Amino acid sequence: MNYELLHLIRESGYLTDADLNANERYALLTHRFWKAVEALGYDTVRLKRTLWMYAGRPEEDLVRALPESPIQKAVRQISSQSTGRDRDRQDDIRRRIKEIAASITEMYQRGEKAIQESIDRNLDNPERLRSETDRIRRMLLAQAASWLAAAVPGLYVTGARIGTIQLHGPHADAVRALITQELNRFRELDAQIGRHIEEVIAEAEKRRVQAALANREPDYSGLRGKVVGYRTIEGRKLGVSDYVKMLALTASRDFYNLGTQNGMLHRKEDLALISREVRRNTCDACRRWAGRIVSISGRSAEYPSLQDALDDGIMHPHCIHYLIPVDYPGST
Ligand SMILES: [Zn+2]
Repeated sequence: MNYELLHLIRESGYLTDADLNANERYALLTHRFWKAVEALGYDTVRLKRTLWMYAGRPEEDLVRALPESPIQKAVRQISSQSTGRDRDRQDDIRRRIKEIAASITEMYQRGEKAIQESIDRNLDNPERLRSETDRIRRMLLAQAASWLAAAVPGLYVTGARIGTIQLHGPHADAVRALITQELNRFRELDAQIGRHIEEVIAEAEKRRVQAALANREPDYSGLRGKVVGYRTIEGRKLGVSDYVKMLALTASRDFYNLGTQNGMLHRKEDLALISREVRRNTCDACRRWAGRIVSISGRSAEYPSLQDALDDGIMHPHCIHYLIPVDYPGST
């Protein structure tokens, strides 16, 4: 039974007792509804057909016709052998993590471009540069907050194999804590963008003074380069959207994996498979661990602990390996 899907359908009004015809009921399934359904991993084309056919028909008929969540099916079959279809489902989760991360990355790409254009236009006008970029920064931060509050918890829910309506109590606390942690990273990024702007303003000012003293036009070359979003420990400068790409991917994966772990704790399961995929650019640590079974608690006698794998370096930034619960006799 897919409670989260039925819950979304009920929320839309599609099942209302009001006197509506089939067309009117179907029309209640808004763009937002389809986005949410897509985020849960359903095949929307097929689901549109089903909901079109069952509009106005008894609820129990609809419930029987609703598809199982593809993720639910994937985790159920995970302990079976690695078949081509199994691999497809693993790709689905990976793709979903990437898609959710891409949605915020695209916003920051646009924002970064807007900031760059504002720098270009306003090197002579620090006040306007500040006010324009402040506005862009506020917008980006608001988008990051709503992305964290709306899009990413869906991954936790999927990982935990619970419905959105069950996202309360400890699960809700876990999601809130992770949101706070991730939002802090976006706040740090915002502060870094602010520092970058102030640096550009100060440097432009210095060059204007020198130009005035030498009685020539100021030379602003080099100030129009990339907007630094993050400086690595080695001092390497990462552009804003490159950094967000990493941040978003890592955060999305973390929501999924935390959901998986907490769902397993809740169900008193202990063994999880580290997703199997290995690609050309997969790092050595992930190659060592991909496809292996680990014990979440670390108490298993037969299997290494998840902590061993983490200590070895899996789940590094950019890594999209994730955990798949294994229903296995002896899983404690
Ligand atoms: Zn990896």
